[in-house]
Amino acid sequence: MAALPSGGPSGAPSPALEVVDVSKSYGTVRALQGVRFSVGAGEIVGLLGPNGAGKSTTMKAILGLLRPDAGSIRLFGAEVGTNPVATKRQIGYVPESPSLYEFLTGTEYLDFIADMYGLDRATRRERIGQFLTGLELAGHEDALISGYSQGMRQKVALIAALAHRPRLLILDEPLNGLDPRSARVTKDLLRNLASRDGVAILFSTHVLEIAQAICDRVVILDHGTVLASGTFESLRARAGLAGSGLEEVFLALTGSGDLGDVVAALER
Ligand code: ATP
Repeated sequence: MAALPSGGPSGAPSPALEVVDVSKSYGTVRALQGVRFSVGAGEIVGLLGPNGAGKSTTMKAILGLLRPDAGSIRLFGAEVGTNPVATKRQIGYVPESPSLYEFLTGTEYLDFIADMYGLDRATRRERIGQFLTGLELAGHEDALISGYSQGMRQKVALIAALAHRPRLLILDEPLNGLDPRSARVTKDLLRNLASRDGVAILFSTHVLEIAQAICDRVVILDHGTVLASGTFESLRARAGLAGSGLEEVFLALTGSGDLGDVVAALER
């Protein structure tokens, strides 16, 4: 299998993900207009925005599930779609509502995924066992998925996305359906993956507190454009609101009713 290039022309490592001036319309609906951001190794970036802002469209374009009308998306320096098999080996993806095979047990499903990635028996047992324990799912893995709660399904989908050790993780609302303890365990796992293993993580969320608790940077989308992006500190500094919460910062950044709507939607 061909490896993806890991460095740019200057020799500096390429970001894990670069979204450059991407636009996409569905018929007359302009879903994305000139969207630009990047995610580096070991970074957790939150993609925030109200319903219809363009988060899913952005993620689908990154995954190669739809083709932008304009702009470019690069994964580890390679244009999306140029080497799809090699690209998929570098990425883990958890959709908002993962569809799992109901008639399999957790172990059977994860074995099936491990087969797809060609993981040998010892490797899969070790990795999957670690994640089952870490996410407090150990003991339930031999029950049928049809009997799992939404949170348990979410965890199985996350383990399935992590078993092949991706370098870039794309998560659509990853903490949906998790109780506070499970959300905490998942947040800790994501932070460890980024800081210890250098995994680049992009995840979408409507919940400002989650973004604030876990992300190094946020990209705020609204009506298909990037409204603001940066670290919380930089956003606070721009708004002149040191020590304030995200909500006040967002409101101050635009000073318009529009952003109030964004914040209200983000909090729903
Ligand atoms: P949500 O938080 O509700 O999932 P989102 O931020 O993910 O929203 P998108 O699903 O990317 O937003 O949608 C962006 C815009 O594109 C919206 O106006 C939406 O109605 C429109 N859209 C998305 N998918 C399609 C489609 N298949 N056909 C037509 N319009 C679409």
